[in-house]
Amino acid sequence: MIHPDIESIIVSEDEIRQRIAELGAEISRDYAGERILLVAVLRGAALFMADLARQITVPVEIDFMAVSSYGSSTKSSGVVRILKDLDEQIEGRHVLVIEDILDTGLTLKYLLKNLASRKPASLEVVTLLSKEGKQRVPISCKYIGFSVPDEFVVGFGLDFAERYRNLPYIGVLRPSAYQD
Ligand code: 5GP
Repeated sequence: MIHPDIESIIVSEDEIRQRIAELGAEISRDYAGERILLVAVLRGAALFMADLARQITVPVEIDFMAVSSYGSSTKSSGVVRILKDLDEQIEGRHVLVIEDILDTGLTLKYLLKNLASRKPASLEVVTLLSKEGKQRVPISCKYIGFSVPDEFVVGFGLDFAERYRNLPYIGVLRPSAYQD
């Protein structure tokens, strides 16, 4: 049943499940014989990490980072603050950063620069969603779940004012939902 605040579903629950299985298989092949440290960027990527980790067959460990970008809730400013750092040391380890959505790329650019300075053996990114034509900085994102149009989306971890993270699909909000 579609949530009353959702105008349209742009990626369905089935499509997400299928794509995560494909990404898990691809990642398992690429990292054959290695261990991976999955680093989810809180809070949006937590749900994606939970599903993706269970589709990866090589050994994984998990850790989390929380960052906040200053500015309004629906626009990225590129000014990033680390609210929670990793618990793990990453030097010499294969790190795979898990993102919910790549918009301008500014958040990820900052994060990758920060993580690269800690000298991991490798550093790659998997994002569930990437907004078409929006990236303002070149980011090498090895694994992309879906390219989506440039609209503000919610669901599967993504929120508006902390709501809608638990929707099992990715959808666009009705304009009226912003006014509550
Ligand atoms: P970027 O720095 O790439 O512009 O923005 C990345 C972050 O902005 C994402 O991790 C997410 O938290 C937030 N964001 C960007 N676009 C959307 C969107 O369409 N919906 C939601 N809920 N968050 C978004």
